[in-house]
Amino acid sequence: MLVRYFAIDQTMAEENVNKERLELALEAAGLDLWENDLVNGDVMHMAKKTLVELGYSAQEVSNDINDIYSIVHPDDVPILKSAVKNHFSGVTAQYRCEFRLRSRSGRWIWYASYGKIMTVGGSDHGKRFIGITFNIDDRKRRENEIEQINRKLAKQNALLESMNASLQLLAVTDSLTGLANRRKLMEVGANECKRAKRFRHPLSLLVLDIDFFKRVNDTWGHPIGDRVICAVADVCLNGTRKGIDVVARIGGEEFAIVLPQTNYVSACALAEWLREAIEGKQVSVNGGTELIASTVSIGVVTLTDNAASSPVSDSALFGLLLKKADKCLYQAKRSGRNCVFGAIEANGATT
Ligand code: GH3
Ligand code: MG
Ligand code: MG
Repeated sequence: MLVRYFAIDQTMAEENVNKERLELALEAAGLDLWENDLVNGDVMHMAKKTLVELGYSAQEVSNDINDIYSIVHPDDVPILKSAVKNHFSGVTAQYRCEFRLRSRSGRWIWYASYGKIMTVGGSDHGKRFIGITFNIDDRKRRENEIEQINRKLAKQNALLESMNASLQLLAVTDSLTGLANRRKLMEVGANECKRAKRFRHPLSLLVLDIDFFKRVNDTWGHPIGDRVICAVADVCLNGTRKGIDVVARIGGEEFAIVLPQTNYVSACALAEWLREAIEGKQVSVNGGTELIASTVSIGVVTLTDNAASSPVSDSALFGLLLKKADKCLYQAKRSGRNCVFGAIEANGATT
């Protein structure tokens, strides 16, 4: 008999030590234990430490906060309910949720809860929902701060990217006409030479120069001269294929047009059309009382579909084309201006 009492005392003492161990661990980790009896609905152990931490008095805890949902942030109530529901229906092996609780002073503070349905004594009569709640406010606030910083960074990155794109565009655009500049022309030209060689397509290039443009400046002044340059640019843009041909301003009153997949005959026909269209275009000055008409001389060069055998690099080949087109332009000027002069280039070697 004595032995049996001794054994019971031993078990109780062990249980007390276990309880103390648990309390010590919970305390040290800042965890608040709660326990609900799922059979009769009793709250066996309320998360009092959390409620006290939130600033509620012992009286408020026992009288006013019967339902924890009454102090959960409205946005988090559905999340909390679904976490409980998912665990109760067996979807999740453990209940886990993060939510905000309203403190006595009205501040929202972040908490996390982990829990599990446990069966005490191995029968359904002992079914309990047991878990812990702990404060994660610092972590959540840091996460929010980082998120805000990241959002700001993403915005600034997007701004930088768009500024970069604008800068890149500016670097290849002529500021007066909005056409491509010489740098862009050289890039596009080399690229088109490469494609022409690879696919054995012809490639044509026009170089246009406004005739006696100095006189326009001398007679009407530089700003009106600028308007004449823009008018010629407009005719060139409107007379060429969008997204295929590239029109560039490569000097004061000088333009170049890259015409991919265009043979010599078509290039000359286009040059003739542009020459006539520019001749017919008039820029009105002094409120429309006077009109300025200009003419252009045009050099045409075509790289034939034999160019695949060209021994020079793509950029050097385009440089040669440009030189040859310039020579043709010079000949057009010498032939009296307001005319078209052309030549065919077989493979980068002068024909
Ligand atoms: P040619 O028929 O031989 O080409 O004669 P031109 O007078 O057109 O040629 P020249 O090279 O003698 O004159 C070109 C003029 O273009 C000289 C320069 O002042 C002017 N010019 C260069 N850039 C600009 C510009 O951006 N705006 C204006 N308005 N004039 C410019
Ligand atoms: Mg000129
Ligand atoms: Mg010139």
